[in-house]
Amino acid sequence: MVRELDHWISGTSIPRDAQETLLVEGPLDRRPVARVTLGGREHVALAVAAARSAARDWADRAPVQRGRLLAEVARRLRDRAEEFVAVEVEETGKLVAEMRGGLHVAADYFEYYGGVVRALFGETINLGAGDHAFTSREPYGVVGMITPWNGPLTQAARGMAAALAAGNTVVVKPSEFTSSTTVMLARLCEEVGVPPGVVNVVLGTGTEAGKALVDHPGVRLVAFTGSVVTGRSVAEAAARRLVPTILELGGKSANVVFADADLDRVVDSALTICTGAGQQCAALSRLLVQTDVYDAVLARVGEAMAARTPGERLAPMTTEAQFEKVVDYFEVAKDEGARVVTGGRAVTGELAAGRYVEPTVYADVTRDMRIFREEVFGPVLAVTPFETEAEAVELANDSEYGLVASVWTADSARALRVASRLDAGQVIVNGGRTGIETPFGGYKSSGIGREKGFESLLYYTQLKTTVVSTR
Ligand code: NAD
Repeated sequence: MVRELDHWISGTSIPRDAQETLLVEGPLDRRPVARVTLGGREHVALAVAAARSAARDWADRAPVQRGRLLAEVARRLRDRAEEFVAVEVEETGKLVAEMRGGLHVAADYFEYYGGVVRALFGETINLGAGDHAFTSREPYGVVGMITPWNGPLTQAARGMAAALAAGNTVVVKPSEFTSSTTVMLARLCEEVGVPPGVVNVVLGTGTEAGKALVDHPGVRLVAFTGSVVTGRSVAEAAARRLVPTILELGGKSANVVFADADLDRVVDSALTICTGAGQQCAALSRLLVQTDVYDAVLARVGEAMAARTPGERLAPMTTEAQFEKVVDYFEVAKDEGARVVTGGRAVTGELAAGRYVEPTVYADVTRDMRIFREEVFGPVLAVTPFETEAEAVELANDSEYGLVASVWTADSARALRVASRLDAGQVIVNGGRTGIETPFGGYKSSGIGREKGFESLLYYTQLKTTVVSTR
């Protein structure tokens, strides 16, 4: 059955008139899964008007009241997990187990921000007797939120939970290829009692609906997750209106392995490139290995990657454009002379009806190669040897990106030394696990601002100083 998707504005599904639609073909077998309304300026205007009229009442509620509703969103999301998982799997192609994990992360965001917002408060500033000064954190009003196709539910939940907890109302523009769960989430918010207009969803392409949202004068903060190229144009448009942005962009993150590392765990960590078939901003897509263990690590990683059978153990590429992009990179790597350890082709045979590519490892990748520098966004690992600690740091930092970095070593002094030198918003040492409590965001071109953690609430609020004369 093809899902019919329409804008969700002020608690109502907007009936489709003569609007253009997009028939989305799913990644598993390229069969149609959804027909999506493609909106534009007038739908954005409707949604922003709805969000504006809901803003005062929502902001005026006590954080505990908003928080309880968000906790209820989390509870219902878990109750209806399988429904959300099935739709998300159909549209993104993610493995069911991966998506079940993602569903609980999405619910966690609502629980976490619903609770932690009660700990958001200002400070008093001592100006001496006669004046009483204090700061308070206030919502911006309407947040325009634009999300990508690789993690539609978790990306929408991450921004929405923090923005709503802080007292903002939102207009979300999901990727036109994976819009269903965002609409479902907005409906679910309404079901638990979030007032109409607090959460709105406008569907459509980036160049029409997305651009109209960023340009709309009623939008006071833009939260964008997506590629660097689009992020740059969103930031430019927002800058023209002097509206702040939170930008969560791409990465080409380095996983640095010293010879004294626990190699079993290193292999597991290298294999995380297969999570979501590598379509993750935080993917550790460059493996930098000290020469003493280079051949051993390469052999083990190559073997383990080859065992990740597409279909059962490796998801397809979500969109046709992404599939073509990864296949193009196979050609690029070949032309550049990267050594293929395993993979390097689109999957043939029965699975060719879907957008599957082979899990791929390239060895001896040098810094002048495009697969060292560019985000492939597929199950593709670029492996490069290094000799010294200084060289490892220099190679890891030789990137326009700076989203995540990882380091493996048994020497704790070196671990901290290297971690402090890596240009990344998040550094993982010896496989440390992150959570929704840990702030996430990029250095360099990987973004501006932070999502996740308490920090996110600071980005979704603005600081007011009030000074009262007591004379
Ligand atoms: P994209 O930049 O092509 O699109 C992202 C969103 O922006 C989509 O909703 C799209 O419709 C919209 N858009 C496109 N052009 C626009 C414009 N001119 N104005 C406003 N909106 C516009 O990215 P994508 O291909 O959907 O997603 C993959 C990228 O997202 C990768 O680079 C990945 O690393 C990044 N990403 C980053 C994070 C993070 O948290 N840092 C998380 C997930 C994905």
